[in-house]
Amino acid sequence: MEKLRLLLGDQLNSNHSWFHKTDNEVTYCLFEMRQETDYTKHHIQKVVGFFAAMRNFAKELKSNNHKVIYYQLNDKKNTQSLVVNLANIIDEYNIEKFEYLAPDEFRLDKQLTQFTTDLNIKFEQFSSEHFYTEKEELATFFKGKKQFLMENFYRNMRKKHQILMVDSQPEGGKWNYDASNRKKWKGDALIPPEISFDNDVSEIVSELKEANIETIGNINPKYFEYPISRNQSLEQLEYFCEHLLVHFGDYQDAMHTDKIYLFHSRISFAMNTKMLSPKEIINKVLETYREKTDEIDISQVEGFIRQILGWREYMRGMYWMLMPDYKKENFLENKNKLPNFFWTGNTKMNCLKNAINNSLDNGYAHHIQRLMVTGNFALLTQINPDEIDAWYLGIYVDAIEWVQLPNTRGMSQFADGGKIATKPYVSSGSYISKMSNYCDSCSYKKTKKFGDDACPFNTLYWNFLDEKQEKLSSNFRMKMMYSLLNKMSSEERTKIKEKANHIIENIDGY
Ligand code: FAD
Ligand code: SF4
Repeated sequence: MEKLRLLLGDQLNSNHSWFHKTDNEVTYCLFEMRQETDYTKHHIQKVVGFFAAMRNFAKELKSNNHKVIYYQLNDKKNTQSLVVNLANIIDEYNIEKFEYLAPDEFRLDKQLTQFTTDLNIKFEQFSSEHFYTEKEELATFFKGKKQFLMENFYRNMRKKHQILMVDSQPEGGKWNYDASNRKKWKGDALIPPEISFDNDVSEIVSELKEANIETIGNINPKYFEYPISRNQSLEQLEYFCEHLLVHFGDYQDAMHTDKIYLFHSRISFAMNTKMLSPKEIINKVLETYREKTDEIDISQVEGFIRQILGWREYMRGMYWMLMPDYKKENFLENKNKLPNFFWTGNTKMNCLKNAINNSLDNGYAHHIQRLMVTGNFALLTQINPDEIDAWYLGIYVDAIEWVQLPNTRGMSQFADGGKIATKPYVSSGSYISKMSNYCDSCSYKKTKKFGDDACPFNTLYWNFLDEKQEKLSSNFRMKMMYSLLNKMSSEERTKIKEKANHIIENIDGY
């Protein structure tokens, strides 16, 4: 029976059981499409990275004697629509059965469900064989619960998969070493030079230009840094384990003007395209730890595993538990427009300038830059979550809706009223100063609340608490901050409001 098997751009899993044997009656198809380049405005490195990885994957399949149909963006047969391309191929090649891997995005899942409903040949959906958890697993785990705490899910995952466990107890005696993951980097621990693959992607960049695809950010087409093949992805993992794991946990939350990546793995693109699986990453990290127990502390290893076994699987489960309504949530009723400087990096606030320029130049910012710099500022200035989602979904090479949306709308913007985060992640300039050297060379003074040179985060923070008091003051974790706010004189609160309003109304001047 002639079968057509679809592979989406984020389903490049060469270890999938589909590829264990070749079959002359099976044809695989992959398409570069306007449907995917245009559903939001993406960073150029994101589009290029996906297309380059897809092309390499198709080549790898062909060299292993699989039959492959690959449509480049400019291919004459490419209609730029997933379902029209599929329908045409099914017709042309007399396909008798259509098979596809479960999409991770709601948008594509809906499109393919509709397509198969209308199809008059057999069809079947298969697992992508990537994640530890099934899509519905979180909904079952949290059934009947009012709170969906990541920590409970994470401990259960550790037990279930026997990761860093000694019988039923956590290895080292603690479940979580978060408290020792908060060091500021002051140049003390040596950061080895970054790994870069220097891929030449000029051809894809020219094709995007010819097709007039609108993108954001910058690229050096001769030296594309991200891994775009399975082998490069494995090299990136090897590099992390060999050189960076040793300090990963310590400096996980640190930020620095001279060091963009610090000890972060930069593995999210390889993982989200499925060139690497979370299981092989965790196994490799554990193997390195076992070999170098004298050098690497458990806090570094647990800190990393928590991100992948905990946060990544949790975010995916929450997405599938809460979509599609989740995408419309706006608990705090925030309505302001995203400042223009998010698209240019043109601001005097040094923390934002660094985090945004890093994002524009590299399609990258690490977790704390996303959460406590750009996300924090967007929440303090009460930006409409739709605009924030569009920015985060476009700008990062690793941004795919199933992981971007719960992180942005939930964790960072509290737009779900606390389903993911137990309190809003907001702070004044003091947190940024504690974790980075940004404030040292900023036009604003981190300790000042008033005056032209006062750090905008300081008044925005208190103003945010004041404006959202009705919605937030009953939150147990906010009690201390509200008691401090309520001790302020009405004159001071008025001054804060005036200053914060001035910032919000003239935001692009700051
Ligand atoms: P490392 O710091 O080295 O961490 C290792 C891995 O852990 C990451 O590669 C990632 O796969 C996983 N991880 C860590 N934190 C999270 C998390 N909160 N959720 C899911 N996985 C996590 N991650 C994405 O993959 N895509 C996104 O679109 C995305 N959007 C985000 C938006 C906001 C507002 C925030 C606060 C976080 C977002 N994250 C997203 C999570 C995190 O910032 C990135 O995974 C990380 O910065 C990628 O860099 P890295 O590979 O060097 O990560
Ligand atoms: Fe950011 Fe304020 Fe520090 Fe400047 S002083 S870097 S605006 S936190």
